[in-house]
Amino acid sequence: MRILLIEDEARIQSFVRRGLEAEGYGVVTADDGPGGLSLARAGEWDLVVLDLLLPGMNGLRVLQELHRERPHLPVVVLSARGDLRTKLKGFELGATDYVSKPFALDELLARIRVQLRRTVPPGDDEHVLHAGPVLLDLARRQARVGDLVTDLSDREFRLLHHLLLHVGEVISRERLLADVWGYDFDPGSNVVDVCVRRLRQKLGPDAHIETIRHAGYRLAAA
Ligand code: CA
Repeated sequence: MRILLIEDEARIQSFVRRGLEAEGYGVVTADDGPGGLSLARAGEWDLVVLDLLLPGMNGLRVLQELHRERPHLPVVVLSARGDLRTKLKGFELGATDYVSKPFALDELLARIRVQLRRTVPPGDDEHVLHAGPVLLDLARRQARVGDLVTDLSDREFRLLHHLLLHVGEVISRERLLADVWGYDFDPGSNVVDVCVRRLRQKLGPDAHIETIRHAGYRLAAA
């Protein structure tokens, strides 16, 4: 997997680059807008990480040009501009995800992993995710555990999808609220716990969605 990192701040560039390389990605960096855009055009990339405040050319313009030429290339914006207007502008211009600075490297890496999974070329298993006995049919939005087949509500589907994408990992309530419900705050309710309970009831005892005390939830790999 090849990632182009367009970021002018040397400290952040090297921090992110090292994080990506530790995950096994091939990384090429650019530290201004025009240089980044021409590298993006010239190379074969699986994903671009793009800062917005760049010398030479604003990152939003880079994004716009890039999206016009490579509409399927995932672009994760990484910017100190965390205001809603800029975020929405970024999505409008083709960003596939948006991470505000300051950021946690682990979160950026997790978001990149999600983007890269989405672009895996379709194969036979294109519409099915599975872990241990749990199988999720993405086209039918049905879960299957052994002989038990069950329809899922939209939220249950998205929750199970998220757990399957991160099988074996402990996922906090905050992250589930952000990634499944789209909340960047804790509404102080127990929506996550309620949804997990419903999923457990639907999937039966063979699906191991574990509660990790004070940490979150984990779907066991087997
Ligand atoms: Ca910058």
